Amino acid sequence: MQKLAAGNWKMNGLAASLAEIEALATAHPTPGCDILICPPATLLSRVSDAALGTSVQTGAQDCHPKDSGAHTGDISAAMVRDAGGAFVIVGHSERRADHGEDDALVRAKAEAAHDAGLIAIVCVGETLEQREAGRTLEVVGGQVAGSLPDDATAEDTVIAYEPVWAIGTGKVPTTDEIALVHADIRARLTARFGADGEGMRIIYGGSVKASNAAEIFAVPNVDGALVGGASLKAADFGGIVDALG
Ligand code: PGA
Repeated sequence: MQKLAAGNWKMNGLAASLAEIEALATAHPTPGCDILICPPATLLSRVSDAALGTSVQTGAQDCHPKDSGAHTGDISAAMVRDAGGAFVIVGHSERRADHGEDDALVRAKAEAAHDAGLIAIVCVGETLEQREAGRTLEVVGGQVAGSLPDDATAEDTVIAYEPVWAIGTGKVPTTDEIALVHADIRARLTARFGADGEGMRIIYGGSVKASNAAEIFAVPNVDGALVGGASLKAADFGGIVDALG
């Protein structure tokens, strides 16, 4: 299985950030993993152009479940594809929290992504309160069940397990804790999707950086990372790419 180093720039990045794409691609011409950058929508087209013909793939951070129409401020999966994107993140915890996105909407977005020929990165993860209440596997399992389309395949779907309390905080679960959740997700995927479930990439997200990446990537069923803060600079993200390759 080809591992995935995915960068989520969130609401960061201006035209000057294009230099980071060039630096990343130049430093990693033949990486041992897939490299993905998801810039803000305003930059997707330019980042995709800058990445064309390099080892860097691009994607969006969200899409609307509908193809087109009267949805001010939204972008469709077809638009992401048209702008050069190959991936789209759906159901990130910041969208679930800030925009009230539930599993049914996330699933509809993943379906729209697939219809447009995109790979959907479907995010799941528990809050600190849920973890402390011993509900991690139940919450994450419920999100996996509710957020994935029935016809998801190993090729068109990636699961990102991101404990909400680990995002942007510098706190990371122990490797045993990550192993437990990833194994549980793998079991659920295999039960539902068979061989596709065995081949679906499950990536970890939440305070991944070059200094802890190798340890996290050694955990069984961790097939890469979704990286926020440490994806903004090519030098930082490059260390994570190296740890995967
Ligand atoms: P972080 O964000 O790497 O800054 O913790 C991860 C994410 O939200 O995808």
